[in-house]
Amino acid sequence: MNTVIILAAGQGKRMNASSNKQYLILKDRPILAHTISAFEKCPMINQIILVVHEDEQELCKKNILEKYKYTKIKHLVKGGKERQESVYNGLKAIDEKTNIVLIHDGARPLITEQVIVRCIHGAIEYGAVSAGVPIKETIKIMGKDRFVSYTPKREDVWVTQTPQTFQKDTILKAHEFAIAQEIIGTDDAMLVEHMGMKIKMVEGDYENIKITTPEDLIAAEAILNYKRKK
Ligand code: C5P
Repeated sequence: MNTVIILAAGQGKRMNASSNKQYLILKDRPILAHTISAFEKCPMINQIILVVHEDEQELCKKNILEKYKYTKIKHLVKGGKERQESVYNGLKAIDEKTNIVLIHDGARPLITEQVIVRCIHGAIEYGAVSAGVPIKETIKIMGKDRFVSYTPKREDVWVTQTPQTFQKDTILKAHEFAIAQEIIGTDDAMLVEHMGMKIKMVEGDYENIKITTPEDLIAAEAILNYKRKK
């Protein structure tokens, strides 16, 4: 069974909005409703665990759950202070029948079924995968003095996206290892890397952007308009 943990408990301070960015309207619906719909519609997804800030549970119920009547959401879980803690709270709610766990940012509403399916197949084959895309720019690694320390070859650098997808036991062990070792990761793949396991990168999508700052919302709307014209 395949379960997705959708994370919506961040504060989104970089959005400069009065409410959590995931409840802002993108075209016709809240950002988070687009994200949940993509997984709800995907036949390979069996269950959804939604992680929401404890002060926003009512907001989420009123603006999303009661309006859109999803059938796959099994648990509404309280978020943590850090993203990693939110993921761990989601992992604790997963049931025994789950083999594959997808972890996805609620703030990535343009996720497609093709990428979700590629991630699930990748996790079955390799145990731990991340969606990602090759970088388009040249990256500079900086020293503390802000002089360039070195320039990696462009073909070696990819941007990670979500879903990051794992065999259940692998991601549970990685989070428990991180807690024991006091490791804080900016993504879940990093925690698996710390255990010495390899992450396979599977092809994501340049349109699978994370809505972080106001111009990302404009870009997401433009992408949706363009897709509907196609
Ligand atoms: O802050 P950032 O944009 O990296 O967050 C990525 C995703 O993780 C967002 O969807 C956000 O809501 C979620 N998150 C969370 N709990 C936190 C911090 C972030 O669920 N404490």
